[in-house]
Amino acid sequence: AVTSASPSIRPISRGAVYKICAGQVILDLSSAVKELVENSLDAGATSIEIALKEYGEEWFQVIDNGCGISPANFKVLALKHHTSKLNDFPDLQSLTTFGFRGEALSSLCALGNLTVETRTKNEPVATHLTYDHSGLLTSEKKSARQVGTTVTVKNLFSNLPVRSKEFSRNIRKEYGKLVSLLNAYALISKGVRIVCTNTIGRNAKSMVLKTQGRDSLKDNIITVFGMSIFNCLEPVSICISEGCKVDGYLSKSGQGSGRNLGDRQFFFVNGRPVDMPKVVKLVNELYKGANSKQYPIAIMNFTLPTGACDVNVTPDKRKIFFADEASILHALREGLQQVYSSTDVCYLVNKVE
Ligand code: ADP
Ligand code: MG
Repeated sequence: AVTSASPSIRPISRGAVYKICAGQVILDLSSAVKELVENSLDAGATSIEIALKEYGEEWFQVIDNGCGISPANFKVLALKHHTSKLNDFPDLQSLTTFGFRGEALSSLCALGNLTVETRTKNEPVATHLTYDHSGLLTSEKKSARQVGTTVTVKNLFSNLPVRSKEFSRNIRKEYGKLVSLLNAYALISKGVRIVCTNTIGRNAKSMVLKTQGRDSLKDNIITVFGMSIFNCLEPVSICISEGCKVDGYLSKSGQGSGRNLGDRQFFFVNGRPVDMPKVVKLVNELYKGANSKQYPIAIMNFTLPTGACDVNVTPDKRKIFFADEASILHALREGLQQVYSSTDVCYLVNKVE
């Protein structure tokens, strides 16, 4: 309402600021789990288990065998903008870790109930830690665990009433999105075993995803999608410019799928799953030229030198800016045109035989 007097400008309370900012990093279930999985990868884990209760609505947990967290860091672990991965802005140019803003754990604290159990190789036992909504350490006790870290989040969004309702209402959809994201990590991560389970009511936990931690993209595709789907794909490798390339697998032109496989099109930049609407559009468009009735499965990783892209665009780091987007798209178009014109020939030859 407009009042006659100029309203005074006051600071927003700290609690409110936490909630507002946290809601930008953690948009939904999949962005919450994504942050934890990325922390495990950053910690050098070779085994990551994601456990969900009621599709993640009641709680979710990420259990890893990474380096663990040393006791000196227990107090600052969940404070906003506290990170072990970045010191200063220039570091942003040369980042090789998934996390760097020091916002994930503090955001999860603000939006749910966070507990951490961790042990490094220097500790004889593990420690179980709880944090309050502002990221302060509230309890610390000894526990039993191998080296590594378990992070548990209960009641995500419970203190944001509107989002909490939306979360419950859309839980199946959120879960579907999460499984697709975990598939993305399962495809791209080499030498990391990824397991996801879900427990409903008093039932035994059911297996959602299980990979072996193989060493090649090919083997990962076979584990995630199976041999028959792998046989419908062909490898692509396109050179964009000095130091820039795209590698991956695409449906052969005669062997796509009838439905629009948003859940089977995966794009990565330097091993980081990202949303690339323009690339998606280009791949689908070129595939349509070779096969107008189907959609391609696509698993493509862009290798770009640091400095050629900026992942620091949105808080969830899914969006990416390319320094030279036009020439990347141009080179990709030319490369894909070649792929599909040559497989077209094979396809026709096969048909004639
Ligand atoms: P960021 O990943 O941007 O540094 P986070 O809030 O995600 O910020 O994590 C804060 C810090 O906690 C990390 O920098 C890291 O040192 C530590 N950490 C979080 N999760 C793990 C884990 N699973 N294993 C080891 N260390 C972790
Ligand atoms: Mg992180």
